[in-house]
This record gives sequence, C-alpha cells and structure tokens, in this order.
Amino acid sequence: MRSKVYLIRATRKEEAGLISRKARAVYRALGLNDKIQPEDFVALKIHFGEKNNTGHIKPRWITGIIEEILKKSQRAFLSDSNTLYVGNRSNSVEHIRLAWEHGFTPDVVKIPIIIADGLVGREKDEVRVDGQRVKASRIASAFLHSDVMVCLTHVTGHVQTGVGAAIKNLGMGCASRAGKLDQHSVVHPRVNAKQCRNCGACLKYCPAGAIVQAENYVMIDDEKCIGCGECLVVCKYGAVKMKWDEDSRRLQEKMAEYALAVKNHFGERICFLNFIIKVTKDCDCMAKNQPAIVEDVGIVGSLDPVAVDRASVDLVLKTAGRDAFREGYNIDWSTQLEYGEKIGLGRQDYELVELKEF
Ligand code: SF4
Ligand code: SF4
Repeated sequence: MRSKVYLIRATRKEEAGLISRKARAVYRALGLNDKIQPEDFVALKIHFGEKNNTGHIKPRWITGIIEEILKKSQRAFLSDSNTLYVGNRSNSVEHIRLAWEHGFTPDVVKIPIIIADGLVGREKDEVRVDGQRVKASRIASAFLHSDVMVCLTHVTGHVQTGVGAAIKNLGMGCASRAGKLDQHSVVHPRVNAKQCRNCGACLKYCPAGAIVQAENYVMIDDEKCIGCGECLVVCKYGAVKMKWDEDSRRLQEKMAEYALAVKNHFGERICFLNFIIKVTKDCDCMAKNQPAIVEDVGIVGSLDPVAVDRASVDLVLKTAGRDAFREGYNIDWSTQLEYGEKIGLGRQDYELVELKEF
C-alpha cells in the first residue's frame, strides 16, 4: 500500500495567519491529534534557524498546529538539539535566546522551548539500532522521554546530504552532539593549498581545533578532525575539498539509521510536516539570508518520513523543471530515500492528496 502524503499549496507572500491555518489543515488530515492523551509529552521538533538565517519555519506559521495539540495535552514543547559546531546554538542558553530572537517567544507560541540534549549537549540516551552503519544511536534525551513527536521541517538543499528534509531533521536533528559526531565522523575534508588564501576563517570555526597553520596556508589534522563539515561552508574561496560520493552516501545511511531509531521510539505516534517554502541551497544552519532556488510549493504532511521527503523532492524538481538540489551541490540525495526504504523507515511509493479546504 502506498503512503499518503497531504499537500496544501502556500507561498511565503501569504500572511502568516493563512499559512498557519493551512499547516493546521495538513496536521488535522494526518489524524495524529486523536492519538494524544492529556498526560503525554508532545515534542514539536523544529530548527529555529542559525543567527541571521531567514529561511527557517516562522513561529506564526505553526500556531494553528500548537492550538490543536493544546486541546489534547498541555505538555507540548518546541525542541531541537544543540549543534556540533561552535555557533549560536551550541548550548541551551544561547540556543533559546536565538529562538526568542526569531520570534519563538511564549506570547506567540504559547508553549515552552526545551533543548533536548541539555545545557551543553551531553544529555543523551543510547538506542540500539544494529544497522549496517550504526550499532547504537545516541539520541538527545528529551526526545526519548516524550510520548508523541510532531516533526516540523524546512526543506532545503544541503552541503553534505544534497537534500535536508524530514529524514535529516529526525536522524541528525534528534541526535545528541555525540550522535552527530558519530554520523559525521567518516567525512574528512582536505585543504587545497593552492586555493587557500590563509584568511584564518576556518581556524576560528573548527570545533575540534583540527586546522593547523602551515607556512602560508592551513592544513587539516586527520587525527583531530571530527568530520563536522563546518570548514567546507566557512571557506569563501572553495579551498576545502571533500570526496562527496563515498562520504555523503555513508553519512546519509547513518542518518537514516538514526532516524529509524527515533521513529521506532514513537511507533504510530509521530508525524511529519515539510514546509517547501523558501527552499534554499543550504540548510538553516547557515547564518545568512539566502535566495530561494525554486518557487514556493506549500506544505506536505505524512505519517511516513520517506514518503514525505520523496514527495517534497518530486514537487521541488517538478516546480523547478530541473534538479535544483544537484545544481547547488552535486550530491546524490537519493541515498537517504532508498536506504531509508530498505531499512523499513518508510516507503518512496506515495499517494499525493491535495487539500483545498482549510
Ligand atoms: S577540520 Fe574537521 S573538525 Fe574542523 S571544521 Fe573541518 S571537518 Fe570540522
Ligand atoms: S577559510 Fe579557506 S582560505 Fe581561509 S584559511 Fe581556511 S581554507 Fe584557507
């Protein structure tokens, strides 16, 4: 049987209240709200956006969904985990402050923010996966202490996985810092000495102190490198290089195995809403305003993370008339979908149901 994916058309030019009503309509169609009990902890997994990022999901787009959840349980909260890289979301205090700056304040969203892996990203629990790539996943504790999850994702391109959508939000986004490190650790970039301008930007950003100064260029110390990929996006001169094919494939497979660990925890009580609005070349970890790479499509929702991502990608490619993701980074993004299907995370075969009423 094909997985159902609900679609409602929307663009960022519409006022926030209208987008909120549309998102609520998709959420209602999924039927998850009927499964929420008054004592349930309900985690709304979201990415609040890095400082100066403008593409992230806006707080006023999700107030309708929150109102629905609050009718069933008062124990709902917005949540993300701390980042692997040094930035404005690498500890809970700065992370929550940034979320407030981006408008996720109690007067707007009506529910608290809890950073799922604690103050400095060390609160995690192990979940056995016994997969081809991951034996035990390390997931941010608050997610595993929750009963229900609503996974809210902004669809983007991605420097390491080609596409960042629900599978990534679930697999990478719910992992603790150690879990993120696990997933990234096969990726070892190199600096091309001829292209390096010795500007020092990557030295400042490297969370592992793995970049060392050579005569008039920098080098990466393989022993120290944790493969977070930060230097790749920080370098304005394209001097940091990576073997994308092999490393990206393994990263996507690990990500899918992590996603399965989280999905299995929630069983039937998890749903996925993807916002295909202002789709950008890079993810919301980028501290900048980025142009959209395709016209806005709207919001899709499903109980199946593979189906919702497959539908999101198909809609982007159809709207653009080209592979807008591969145009940004020449990465085969299909691995996360194919491998996700292979390990039982979901299915790529879906039925698209367009909603007109909201
Ligand atoms: S050198 Fe390694 S640890 Fe440092 S930023 Fe680059 S990928 Fe991350
Ligand atoms: S950011 Fe790029 S150019 Fe600057 S030091 Fe690092 S590798 Fe060299």
